[in-house]
Amino acid sequence: MSEVRTALVIGGGVAGPVAGMALRRAGVEATVYEAYPTTADGVGGSLGLAPNGLAALEIIGAADTVRAIARPMPRAVMAVGRKRLDTVPTLPGLPPLQLIWRADLHRALYDHAVSQGVRVEHDKRLVGVEETASGITARFADGTTATADILIGADGIRSTVRTLIDPDAPGPTPTGLLGFEAVADFELPKDEGTITYAFGRRGFYLFRPHPGGGAEWGANLPHAPMSLAEARKVPNEEWLRRLGEYHAEDHPGAELIAHTDPGRLQVLGSMYMMPSVPRWHSDRMVLVGDAVHAPSNSSGQGASLAIESAVQLARCLRDLPDAATAFAAYERLRRPRVERVAARAARINGSKAAGPLSRALMPLLMPIMLRTVMHPERAFGVEQRYKIDWDEPATPH
Ligand SMILES: Cc1cc2nc3c(=O)[nH]c(=O)nc-3n(C[C@H](O)[C@H](O)[C@H](O)COP(=O)(O)OP(=O)(O)OC[C@H]3O[C@@H](n4cnc5c(N)ncnc54)[C@H](O)[C@@H]3O)c2cc1C
Repeated sequence: MSEVRTALVIGGGVAGPVAGMALRRAGVEATVYEAYPTTADGVGGSLGLAPNGLAALEIIGAADTVRAIARPMPRAVMAVGRKRLDTVPTLPGLPPLQLIWRADLHRALYDHAVSQGVRVEHDKRLVGVEETASGITARFADGTTATADILIGADGIRSTVRTLIDPDAPGPTPTGLLGFEAVADFELPKDEGTITYAFGRRGFYLFRPHPGGGAEWGANLPHAPMSLAEARKVPNEEWLRRLGEYHAEDHPGAELIAHTDPGRLQVLGSMYMMPSVPRWHSDRMVLVGDAVHAPSNSSGQGASLAIESAVQLARCLRDLPDAATAFAAYERLRRPRVERVAARAARINGSKAAGPLSRALMPLLMPIMLRTVMHPERAFGVEQRYKIDWDEPATPH
């Protein structure tokens, strides 16, 4: 049994509440500290939860709660120009992708964690720590402190905990893409469970029917990195004009953009991914989720991997005698998997972000697309069939 009895979890996004619930199951008392005063962080948009993420949520009893507010997407279509390549069904034996609004996911996980007895404190921005031989004390921006045996950094891609563990830790790398989502007043064939991944003349976009009528779409625009505040200062009319120009030769891309009311465009800002992080932990601090492995939105796996990591970390802390052994076992279990997913996403980003060269580079995407269509099992099997055996004791090696 572990000597770790208490934990401070920094960040109340996805990984934080999941870590809180999983630690509770593992017999570790955890409190989650979130920087913002409320759960929704203002970052909108939707997110696809993959079967592996859902499987990890089953372990902490939160899968039903999330499924209740998600939309299943059992079919995906690849389209190149006007040509539909094929339908990529859900892998046999696995549940479909669950589409969910990010703010709803944060809220559902928060509510579920609180209902399970996890304490969550808002308006607590971590600014520093004191790590001693007997414990760790977190200092928050409001001048308060909290002490426990360990501290878990679930504080997202701009993690403070990452730099407290290693001041030389790398920061997020821009993918060279800006993200946008919207609902258009444009009717697609009514097929609510189908999402289409479309490769246009110059770039990638996706779309699906909107349950209330119209169509939801998402697109990336190659662009130098800019902060969310900077991106939102540009009028939505201007973004729609640029997106329209970029997808002028694409159908239904051009129509979707042309039929979008500027008020229904969500500017998501620059897309980032984390390079490999050399140090995942110190003696009493450890990272989970985007803080240590943000594979970029192109992977469709960021949230699912964050959930898996939080659960695996709790399992290691349950079974291994001390923090150092548990953290090392956790890193050994997680690093190869998350870095493989990040490498796949980086290949996709490379082709998406090619800007003016994208026409020439589009063929680079073809092998990925064909492998996906022809061999979905080979493309996604390892990622999506991953299941944590919670009852199996974690081992140090
Ligand atoms: C446009 C876009 C589309 C995406 N699409 C998908 C998708 O389809 N599928 C998928 O699986 N993933 C997707 N992702 C990735 C997914 O959103 C992330 O992987 C996931 O949110 C990571 O969860 P997290 O808890 O690690 O970080 P976050 O959700 O970012 O949560 C971190 C939390 O920590 C808090 N915090 C930060 N600093 C401090 C501090 N100093 N003190 C206290 N609290 C702090 C923040 O306020 C935040 O609430 C997408 C991401 C983007 C940007």
